[in-house]
Amino acid sequence: MVAIPPTIKIEGFLCNRTCEIMGLAVGIDIGGTWIRVALGNSDAEILRRKSMPVDARSGASLLRQLESLIRFVCAGDLSLVDGIGIGAAGRLNVREGTIVYSPNTSLRDVNVKALEKRLRKPVTLLNDNVAAALAERSIGIGRGLDNLVYVGIGTGIGGGAVVDGRVLVGKEGNAHEMGHMIIDIEGRLECSCGGRGHWEAYTSGSGLPNFAKLLTERYGRNTPFLKEVRSQRIEAKDIFMAARRGDGFAKFVLEESANVNAMAFANLVDLYDPTVISVGGGVALKNPDLVIEPIADRLPKFAFNAPPAVVATPLREDAPLLGAILSVFEPSSCEPRD
Ligand SMILES: [Zn+2]
Repeated sequence: MVAIPPTIKIEGFLCNRTCEIMGLAVGIDIGGTWIRVALGNSDAEILRRKSMPVDARSGASLLRQLESLIRFVCAGDLSLVDGIGIGAAGRLNVREGTIVYSPNTSLRDVNVKALEKRLRKPVTLLNDNVAAALAERSIGIGRGLDNLVYVGIGTGIGGGAVVDGRVLVGKEGNAHEMGHMIIDIEGRLECSCGGRGHWEAYTSGSGLPNFAKLLTERYGRNTPFLKEVRSQRIEAKDIFMAARRGDGFAKFVLEESANVNAMAFANLVDLYDPTVISVGGGVALKNPDLVIEPIADRLPKFAFNAPPAVVATPLREDAPLLGAILSVFEPSSCEPRD
């Protein structure tokens, strides 16, 4: 006899209906700036969600924030939840369940497995962009594909890869910290991690303003935006706005940025030979015409392997969050193999 799935109703579900659900999971995306939490089912349909800035004052304050957000999206009742999947930025030790170091939040040695005791549910930890790659393979652009790469260009730069159908994980869960790949042998800019010449230091949301400052030396003319960059603190979004206004220097910065991104993507193409590279992250998704399309145009010039399609992720900003939900239902995909 076929088992009848439980029928439950929790007030506040976005679908606002009685849902027949085979399994539920809480997915969490801890990025460089925001934390996103959602209750979802095994098809990664989101039922209830909440986002807020990361409370990075200490590991303890982050754990408190996580617990309260988990309880919120579950409306206080975790009885039907199979587990909690956490996709986190930074260097991890997924065997121990520890965020070892997250440069953009400065969090160190936060053991998220501590939540298992508090909530009595299994907790899976994986890199946020690896989670996104998992989501792409299961429900996104890579559905049915065995080889794909996901790249997130947001506050930082990170990624995940599926090769021959397997999500690559690495010995401790840090298989593709591609944002810390060295793309400048002169190491002119310092990365948020303290290393020099890393990709993230040049074209991520946090890196672009410094890259613009560096490029003021090379640009021969004066423009209103160049003066601004020399005299005040700017943000990445100011560069895109100035380029859209037609400022020559801002356009030059984005051209140079596209070259750097295309070289880094070429490295990924030659490492993983993907059929498709899907691109997410706030900087790319808000400016696909100025970030994603120029990479696709330049890729054939830099890659040795046949260039793949380069597209914006159809899962948008939710790609890591959806992957975190899915990780609960396929934990073996996210574990290191001995
Ligand atoms: Zn770095």
